[in-house]
Formats: sequence, C-alpha cells, structure tokens
Amino acid sequence: MKLLEYKGDELHFDGIPIRQIEARYGTPTYLYSARVIKGCFREYKESFGTQPNLICYAVKANSNLSILNLLAKMGSGFDIVSGGELKRVLKAGGDPKKIVFSGIGKNVDEIKAALNVGIYCFNVESHSELQRLISICQEIGKKAQVSVRVNPDVDAKTHPYISTGLKENKFGVPWNDVMAIYKEASASRYISVIGIDCHIGSQMIDPLPFIDAAKRITSLSNDLKNIGIQITHLDFGGGLGISYQGETPPSPKNWVESVLSVVDNKEMKILIEPGRSIAGPAGILLTKVEYIKKGDVKNFLIVDAAMNDLARPALYNSYHEIKEVKINIGADLLDYEVVGPICETGDFLAKNRSLATREGEILAIMEAGAYGMSMASNYNSRGRPAEVLIDSGDHHLIRRRENVEDLYSHEPFPCP
Ligand SMILES: *Cc1c(COP(=O)(O)O)cnc(C)c1O
Repeated sequence: MKLLEYKGDELHFDGIPIRQIEARYGTPTYLYSARVIKGCFREYKESFGTQPNLICYAVKANSNLSILNLLAKMGSGFDIVSGGELKRVLKAGGDPKKIVFSGIGKNVDEIKAALNVGIYCFNVESHSELQRLISICQEIGKKAQVSVRVNPDVDAKTHPYISTGLKENKFGVPWNDVMAIYKEASASRYISVIGIDCHIGSQMIDPLPFIDAAKRITSLSNDLKNIGIQITHLDFGGGLGISYQGETPPSPKNWVESVLSVVDNKEMKILIEPGRSIAGPAGILLTKVEYIKKGDVKNFLIVDAAMNDLARPALYNSYHEIKEVKINIGADLLDYEVVGPICETGDFLAKNRSLATREGEILAIMEAGAYGMSMASNYNSRGRPAEVLIDSGDHHLIRRRENVEDLYSHEPFPCP
C-alpha cells in the first residue's frame, strides 16, 4: 500500500481519507504512519545480516512517546542528546542498556542520571567532558562505558547548518587529539573504553563522505588496537537523507551495505544512529487554507500552520512538497507562496507552488515526520499541533493540541 494516494478526488494517508482525520482532530495536525516507521526500522535491521549491530534511533528527530515506544518494542536502541530525551526514552519503555548519549554540552545532572540508569555508552565529545565524567564516576562510585566522538574532518556536502563533521564544526574531538584522549580514558579505572563514534551530518544524499568517514574510523580502531586499546563497537552515526524534492538517496539497505563494505571485522558491533530516515517519510503536516490573498507580484496562501509548527523552511530554506487533500474542486491553478499567520517575513512553508485550492481546503505538507514537531515552538503564543498515529488501520491521538492554558501554566500569576 502506498502511503499517500488519491482515491477519487480525495487524498488518503495509509488507506484513511485525510478529510476524516481533519474532521476529527482539526488542523494543524501531524499525522504519522506506524507501518512506515516499522518498515524502515526493519529494513535497517535486516540489512546487517549476521554482523552484530545496534540501531540507535536519534530521538531528536521525533520524540513522541508513542513513536519511541513503537521502536522500543521492535528492539531499537536510542541516541539521546539531553536528560529530557533520556527520560522520554525510559518513559516510553526503552532499554537503558541500548542508549547512547551524544552531545557537546552534557551537564552534571544529565551525566548522573545517565550513569544511574546504566546507559550503554557515553559518546564523549571533548577532553573536558571526559574529565567531568571521570570525576562524577568517582563521586558516585560508577564506571562509565565510553566511546569518543571523533571529528573525521570530512565534508558531508549537505546544508552548512546540518553539516557536523568538518574541522570548523563544534562537534567531536579533533582528529589530531583523538589518540591522546583515548590513552587518557583507558588509563582511568572509572572508564571502560568500548567504541569509536562519529556523525558527520544530516540529510546526506551522496554516500561517499559517509564511506570516507567510516574508513577513517575503521583505521582508527586498528591504530587503537596497536596500542593495546581494544574496542568492541564502531558507531557511524546517522545522517541518511530522504527525498524532499526528488533527491535520490541510497535506501537504508544500500546505506548499511556500504558501511559494512569498509568493516573488515565480522565480530565488531556496528552502531548507527538514524533519525530523519526513519521518522521523516512517515509523517505529514495537515494545514487549512485560511485566506487567499492575491497581489500584483505574488499570491499568498495563508494557512493555519506556521514556522512555529514546522521550522525547517524558515530555518534552512528547505523544501517540503505540498499536496491538495481534495482535487478537482474547480479552483484555478495558481502560483502561491504558502505562509503562516506569524508576524515574521521569514514565516513561510513554501515558495512558488502551483496549487489549485480554496479557502477552507486542507493541504498536506509532505515528509514532515522528522524535525517537524520536535522543533516546534510556541512563538506568537500558538499552541503546538496535535499528533495522530495511524496503526493497523486505526487512528490514535498521540499528543493533544496545546491550548493557551498549557502555555501560561508555567507563569505564576498574579506575580507573587
Ligand atoms: C542528529 C543526530 C543524529 C541523527 O541524524 P539524522 O540525520 O536525523 O539521521 C545522529 N547522531 C547524532 C549525534 C546527531 O546529533
């Protein structure tokens, strides 16, 4: 079954008429398919064959509890970047023994919480972080399993904001300092060095930079072995891109196969941290056309979703395809800029789109499952959208729409 399909004049999502979802839950609403998420996870998993592996879904791509639970039930591990994400994973039933903790700014409380639940691995991103980790372990009497996130200095050839593996990026330990930090870590009795980690960027379409990084990491593991540091896993990070606008990224299967082609050790456990490729294609954002504003140079479609709901166009100038939920309504095909109600010129969802629609009609914004809701904000005192999951033909509200009381519930008033 195709995820999106017109039957008659109506767009269906996973077999369900979108109109039905809109009538029930309103707009803007994120809509996800459990089938697509599970299918992608399964494809990643099966592609490893007999090579030991752990797939750590990158929670920041979409951190809804029901989605994390879906993945936890399939045996997924999780890549977290904050104490908040740690709590989400545990709440959703994730196994702490399958959690890796990435991020350059782990604070003391976050490190303690992760040690106390016994996560699988800290992806250490600096010398200072290693020292902090050692001193916390000493204080609370724990031993930490560690992988050093190295910066392999390869260009992921993606948007500069989502490239992370270059010398000038803030992530990872610079290549030239890597051996020293491994020696120091392995000398501490509070640290067990178990792996090497990298993550060079996101939305990668060309697998070559990724393969380059994998080669550098693999050869580093041999260098470490030569000085007596025996690691048990290689973590190649996430970053596989998806098709937003006709890009042709490798499939998860091809991606894994190209990774495995550089790994010479069949016993080595391979970790990957996919986020976007699992959640992205599984979700859409539904929005209603509020107003049509025709102008001399441009026509605006003013919709009820905005940059606070889906930040990617405003943030990265990224492209999301937009489909009319009802077609053949007799409306003229016009060129539109699709914009939200927020008081910012940067508040747009799409530019130069030919659409045939009318006020009150529903539009579907494609590939919105990753870095959509997880980046949403309350700017302009807008409650964040509802989230709905389609699973085995049924729809489930997995996050209710926020109301303004939710927003100001954190503000003591009247002021004490
Ligand atoms: C964001 C991130 C990921 C996931 O990246 P995707 O492009 O969504 O696959 C994986 N690992 C780390 C360390 C990250 O920061």
